[in-house]
Amino acid sequence: MTQLSATAPKSAASYVEALLASYPDFPKPDILFRDLNPVFADAVAFRAIIDDLADQHRGRFDAVAGIEARGFLLAAAVGYAANVAVLAVRKGGKLPGTVLTEEYELEYGSARLELEIGQLPAGSRVLILDDVLATGGTIAATSRLIDRAGYTLTGVGVVLELTDLHGRERLGTTAVHAIMSI
Ligand code: AMP
Repeated sequence: MTQLSATAPKSAASYVEALLASYPDFPKPDILFRDLNPVFADAVAFRAIIDDLADQHRGRFDAVAGIEARGFLLAAAVGYAANVAVLAVRKGGKLPGTVLTEEYELEYGSARLELEIGQLPAGSRVLILDDVLATGGTIAATSRLIDRAGYTLTGVGVVLELTDLHGRERLGTTAVHAIMSI
């Protein structure tokens, strides 16, 4: 695999466009799966997307919330880059203690997301991060968790937005930043 790291600096979007892989009929028929792992696997591309996500709302968030599992990669790095706290929004049944739960529909199936309570001071400003915005159900459920936990949603950052699924419309007035939209 050619690493783009040796080439001249580019925008985060151009790295995503160059490295994004698409797999028809995965994990089910009629799903065109967008694989961002090649973007994460290129050191310069990964740094570019993390800097882009951190810069978009810089100074306006106290924490990032990463959605299991690929959102964790983004949240850990953006949290470090922006010097803020990191929340893990996990799939159902994986968190101990008192958790908040939200059920939601996926592009393929349904699911449950959970967040532990009391991790941040009330009113903390949270930026939600995930790899792909598809139907918006996952991020909408996460935003309800953030709200129910007593935090303030600053916005949403994703690497890739699939515009034909209209996920942004489900998120109302929330500020959504997508590095690339297709
Ligand atoms: P959604 O709730 O429909 O916006 O789906 C978003 C979540 O499902 C994200 O966490 C994505 O990782 C994953 N996802 C949904 N559709 C796709 C797709 N076509 N390709 C890759 N990941 C997807």
